[in-house]
Amino acid sequence: MSELAYPYEAPASQALFDRAAAVTPGGVNSPVRAFGAVGGTPRFMVSGSGPYLTDADGREYVDLVCSWGPMILGHAHPEVIAAVQEAVTRGTSFGTPAEGEVALAEAMVERVAPLEEVRLVSSGTEATMSAIRLARGFTRRTKVIKFAGCYHGHVDSLLAAAGSGVATFALPDTPGVTGAQASDTIVLPYNDLEAVHAAFAAHPGEIACVITEASPGNMGVVPPLPGFNQGLKDACAANGALFVSDEVMTGFRTSRAGWYGVEGVVPDLMTFGKVMGGGFPAAAFGGRADVMAHLAPAGPVYQAGTLSGNPVATAAGLAQLRLLDDAAYEKVDAVSAQIQSLVTEALGKEGVAHTLQTASNMFSVFFTDRPVRNYEDAKAQESFRFTAFFHSLLSDGVYLPPSSFESWFVSAAHDERAVQRIADALPAAARAAAEATA
Ligand SMILES: *Cc1c(COP(=O)(O)O)cnc(C)c1O
Repeated sequence: MSELAYPYEAPASQALFDRAAAVTPGGVNSPVRAFGAVGGTPRFMVSGSGPYLTDADGREYVDLVCSWGPMILGHAHPEVIAAVQEAVTRGTSFGTPAEGEVALAEAMVERVAPLEEVRLVSSGTEATMSAIRLARGFTRRTKVIKFAGCYHGHVDSLLAAAGSGVATFALPDTPGVTGAQASDTIVLPYNDLEAVHAAFAAHPGEIACVITEASPGNMGVVPPLPGFNQGLKDACAANGALFVSDEVMTGFRTSRAGWYGVEGVVPDLMTFGKVMGGGFPAAAFGGRADVMAHLAPAGPVYQAGTLSGNPVATAAGLAQLRLLDDAAYEKVDAVSAQIQSLVTEALGKEGVAHTLQTASNMFSVFFTDRPVRNYEDAKAQESFRFTAFFHSLLSDGVYLPPSSFESWFVSAAHDERAVQRIADALPAAARAAAEATA
């Protein structure tokens, strides 16, 4: 790297990254945080407030990652913090049932009609892993259909052609997943119903479920074409398989009832995480009561967790869901639309080929002039332009996801001042994208 590759190097973050690299593989606890796709020094954050993050060098950024979605009310929302403080003084884990987990489950069931029952877990990965196990146990079948570019956490059998960090690092597969695990996974191109029908025809009576991101955000934002999710649901119903909608990213973000609230397609099982935890490790899976009844201790499919339904995490999630009323979503949607138009305007002015795609308030920019309908399309973008765009914004105090295969996230706390900071930073970033070379 030349000295001028990145306008600002962040010495305190670099020192922390060096320390981290000595004790943690790659210096991070989740790969995409390492800036591997864009280069430079990952910023170590010390605090967050509203739409801002402050790093170890004392620099403030407008945050367009929002912890990859959870912080939909902004960082350190006073009412969420108060709920956490109240909960934590009563003890941090009981290993028994407690009211908070009931209240959170009730709040979720109340908002999302197809969710008749839920089981709480601690991460989105656990949620999808458990949903797949339940679908297999319920149907007594083995095979699972997933789509290239969809990420469902690092579940062994689902780490085939996954998006997000896997897309970022272009790992076609990962060592450590056995052939047997992968061989029960059928990977199909996203938005291709014919491929789904063909797979069902080729494997009669073998497919337990189709799992899909409700609206994918882990290959960048690639919404389902009209009728795609309904087509999946119908194909599953016609073939005795379950339709599993992964709403870990979209749940309680794209609307009060997540992507289900936008599109209205009724899944058999759904998975949640991110927003429902209010910044704590809380996630869930749920859906049809007759399917959920197969779960232990009610039924034979085993699933458990020492910290599942943790009282502090459920207090945070419940406080956040209670604050997420219609007005909050209107605010998130409006500020998202505002930032979207600033981005297209700036890139348009510099003549940078780009496609901005949205799924309600989730959006991302692909550096290509073609619509992106699947993972192949997403990979065809000029990612080198994103690198230049990203670093220009970073040096001007705007924190984007450090990969062109990710959604951008805003919060209800993104106010005029935050939007102005983005507006001020965009022209130079668009110029950097225009001037970038592969
Ligand atoms: C983030 C994500 C997951 C994994 O959740 P973790 O809490 O990171 O394990 C699963 N599915 C989707 C759609 C996600 O965006």
